[in-house]
Amino acid sequence: MAITPSYDFDLFTIGAGSGGVRASRVAAAHGARVAVAEEYRVGGTCVIRGCVPKKMLVYGAHFAEDLEDAAAFGWTIDQPRFDWTVLRDNVLNDVTRLEGLYTQTLDNNGVTIFAERAVLTAPHEITLASGQTVTARHILIATGARPRIPDCPGAEHGITSNEAFHLDAIPRRVLIAGGGYIANEFAGIFHQFGSKVTIVNRSDVILRGYDESVRDRLLQISMTKGIDFRFHAEFRGMEKQADGSLRVAMTGHDEIEVDCVLFAAGRVPNVEGLGLDTAGVEMTAHGAIKVDRFSKTSAEHIYAVGDVTDRVQLTPVAIREGQAFADTVFGSGDPVAVDHQNVPSAVFSHPPIAAVGLTEGEARNQFGAVKVYLSDFRPMKNVLTGRSERSLYKMICDEASGRILGIHMIGPEAPEIMQAAAVAVKAGLTKAEFDATVAIHPTMAEELVLLR
Ligand code: NDP
Repeated sequence: MAITPSYDFDLFTIGAGSGGVRASRVAAAHGARVAVAEEYRVGGTCVIRGCVPKKMLVYGAHFAEDLEDAAAFGWTIDQPRFDWTVLRDNVLNDVTRLEGLYTQTLDNNGVTIFAERAVLTAPHEITLASGQTVTARHILIATGARPRIPDCPGAEHGITSNEAFHLDAIPRRVLIAGGGYIANEFAGIFHQFGSKVTIVNRSDVILRGYDESVRDRLLQISMTKGIDFRFHAEFRGMEKQADGSLRVAMTGHDEIEVDCVLFAAGRVPNVEGLGLDTAGVEMTAHGAIKVDRFSKTSAEHIYAVGDVTDRVQLTPVAIREGQAFADTVFGSGDPVAVDHQNVPSAVFSHPPIAAVGLTEGEARNQFGAVKVYLSDFRPMKNVLTGRSERSLYKMICDEASGRILGIHMIGPEAPEIMQAAAVAVKAGLTKAEFDATVAIHPTMAEELVLLR
């Protein structure tokens, strides 16, 4: 596309998270003059305080059960000890390494990085915290989202997932407010590290949006492990006591004393103070930036990708939206829209959940006649160790055509298995085509081609 020299940059991206970095790098590779502003750390939520460090904690937490299970395989491990500060510091160091790699990628592509906050002060003008003003032909908002903190007494004593990675010590008793991804992932992590965990949720549904069967299985396994759940409990607030503990009040249940409260009640798009009204950028009813299928806002030259648009709050989706934006605006081909259908996802709970496509309820609503196949089995490893935890795989098919509408799994390595299965669902394959594939034995994944 033609370069317009009257602007300082062809693209100015606000936010160097997953979506912003991908868009900036690709736009630069297409020949655009690109700048990106980041007020915190290059890498954004996923790399700095989300998916990546969380997954490392999940690995670390798993050793608790693995070390116990080792005895059934003949190993004697005398008095294993866990040192949180070793894991924490190793994880934080790796985050710094990754931040360096992301910064390097931008540098290598000739992207100018402003390590400061940027706001719109005119439709094509961006003002940086230092006072410097630059202009850009196109602007991309990729500012992500932040944890929702309830407006209640004592909220300042709580932490969010952001702070969980920096704790001085593992709290003895943790209350998690919320019942979604972050709540269930951190419940597993803290529980394995020895905390007494209580999940407090306003409804009686955990992981809304996931299939009921796998949600119920996680709830049952979590309760058996010793995680407490309080449902229909609206968080009312907390009071710090003389000994540093927190007394927490909620509706419908007794007060509870804990050492740490983690807020995990959803995330709020970061739109405040960005000057979006200056440029006529419209918002959705939920306070996210309204975009079309090409991530364009109501302002012709301003686009938005990732969590700030609250479409699907997942890193790989933000990356695709960033890529599609850069290809559409700066590439030479046709406009590219991201397909938000059949996006696979996973919850790194303990055990993990993975899903793609429609839940059984959604499939029945949309297709009427559906066939559901279930495999409810005890993974081989659990048999030897005497663990009673069972895995559950569920496949939902359109009865008329046999096309797979959804797959839902809970069990060890479910996210790893799902990535491959999701290709087949996305491609519109049928149950018969799964059945025609020979099993790899003995694996857990083979259940997917043996469903009856
Ligand atoms: P989720 O949307 O997963 O869950 C939010 C939870 O908080 C729900 O239990 C919900 O209850 C409750 N809640 C929502 N609003 C309120 C409110 N106003 N007051 C009280 N409770 C409330 O959010 P998370 O914070 O766990 O995670 C944020 C997002 O980050 C996720 O949606 C996901 O997109 C992403 N993420 C993805 C991960 C992954 O891919 N593995 C891991 C972590 C985060 P109810 O359902 O009853 O309404």
